[in-house]
Amino acid sequence: MYYLDQLRPCATPGCVRYALFESDRCPAHLQDPAAYRTMLTELVAGGMSLRGANLASADLAGIALATARLTGANLSAARLEEANLEGARLDRAMAPGADLRGANLKGARCELAVLGEARLDGAVCDGADLRRANLVGASAVGAVFRGADLYYARVGAANFSQADLTAANVQRAVFRAADLRGACLQGARGTANFDRARR
Ligand SMILES: [Zn+2]
Repeated sequence: MYYLDQLRPCATPGCVRYALFESDRCPAHLQDPAAYRTMLTELVAGGMSLRGANLASADLAGIALATARLTGANLSAARLEEANLEGARLDRAMAPGADLRGANLKGARCELAVLGEARLDGAVCDGADLRRANLVGASAVGAVFRGADLYYARVGAANFSQADLTAANVQRAVFRAADLRGACLQGARGTANFDRARR
């Protein structure tokens, strides 16, 4: 649901990519990614919503965006390693292929988020709302989902080995052909589809 009418072309002559949210450059031509991260953090601290923002392929590693409103934002292939997204709103965000390794997603609201092929290894997603989220082909090795809500989440062919799903709600979740070796499902609630999953 990110807003196509907000998209502008990159100001670099000859570049056919879209400029990032609140910037006139695409990620490849952004001169100072660190300054861009700082600007985003300050905008959010000042109350600005990032709803529907184009942040595709942006280098946002380590960014502090706790409680940010990123509903429907385009985070496709964004770098968000070690980012702080605690309590952020990421419902319906488009983040296929995003790198969220080691990110803090505690209590984040990710209903209907598209996280297919995303990398969530070592991420902390305790209490996150991942209802109906698309995690097909995602890698979440050793990630923590304690008490998270994975109702109807699609986790097919994902690597959740060593993941901690203690007390998570997995009702109707689809772990078809997922790798769950060494994963902890103690106290997980609901009936999930583990067809051809490795356990
Ligand atoms: Zn460009």
